[in-house]
Amino acid sequence: MNAFARTVAEHHTATLSASRDGREKGTALMRALTLVADRKIELTELPAPPAPAAGEVQIGIKAIGLNHIDVWGWRGMAFAKRKMPLIVGAEAAGEIRAVGPEVAGLRVGDPVVAYGGLTCATCKACREGRDNLCENVAGIMGFHVDGFGRDLLNMPARFVIPVPPGVNFSDAACAPIAFATVQHMLFDNAKLEPGETILVQAGGSGIGTAAIKMAKAIGCTVITTVGDDEKAAKAKALGADHVINYRIERFEGVVRKLTAKKGVDVAFEHVGPDTFNGSLLCLKRGGRLVTCGSTSGQSTTINLFQLYLQQYRIFGSFGASIRNVRDSLAKMASGLLPVIDTEVTLADFERGLARLESRQVFGKIIVTF
Ligand SMILES: [Zn+2]
Repeated sequence: MNAFARTVAEHHTATLSASRDGREKGTALMRALTLVADRKIELTELPAPPAPAAGEVQIGIKAIGLNHIDVWGWRGMAFAKRKMPLIVGAEAAGEIRAVGPEVAGLRVGDPVVAYGGLTCATCKACREGRDNLCENVAGIMGFHVDGFGRDLLNMPARFVIPVPPGVNFSDAACAPIAFATVQHMLFDNAKLEPGETILVQAGGSGIGTAAIKMAKAIGCTVITTVGDDEKAAKAKALGADHVINYRIERFEGVVRKLTAKKGVDVAFEHVGPDTFNGSLLCLKRGGRLVTCGSTSGQSTTINLFQLYLQQYRIFGSFGASIRNVRDSLAKMASGLLPVIDTEVTLADFERGLARLESRQVFGKIIVTF
């Protein structure tokens, strides 16, 4: 971590521990979901934040979207530098409760989402709008530093994005990570074009369902994999052209048949070792594979002859830019809504994570306040 990132992270921690120490002084309290040890989240009370400072707004959180990054954080990850207790919640929607000095364009009562990567705003990547490549990022909220799982928080206004009319809090809560990640993968990285064929792995997941809908919305042919027949029917209902139950059929063979041995233009990956090589095999010559996760493990081996002879392009993708979040919200406003599996209350946050971990979901799990 460089000097800037350290300063931001230390400021963040110092502010919070100051407010934790302020508990005895009769400050107003708010609810917060705090990770206190691996696989142990407690619903606690913490002092509410002070009035927002210059350039900040205060947000009342209404809904949180759960993602695999929450599961990783909950299980504990050796490589993640962080201190517990840590407030969980990596993507959220809420409404503005107070506006600090020197903030333009945001008013009390506005529905908003917030970008949870603490980027520097000044490095080359940030200036070019490639926020998720920030050279000085001070951490991801809800994972490295305190997140959105609390009634109130103050945020710099530059991270706050208005929610367009007609989009509710549960749907909007899926914009900063789930939808924006898919938007970034499909359109910035894989450069998916109308009329192309895409293989979406794990089509029942939060991002899988979003990928199916976004690809269909521009007129692509979508082939997707799921783990049971019930999910297959749901994926079909979302518009997937072909659904493969990977527990019954080898998806590589089915894709080959469906594409008359040509292969797909794009493979959308996030499963990892279990499917990665199969996804590569499904690509046509010059095809693109884009991946944002590896839920089935960390490593795999690939055939380098195949990689260069077939001229595959492989994109690693993590997070999204603020522009991707805005674009995602605009898609929601035009009717392309996330698929919500379940909504749970704050007290059931861990049950939501366990459901996500068990892969029994079809779509997103939302925690409501
Ligand atoms: Zn930066």
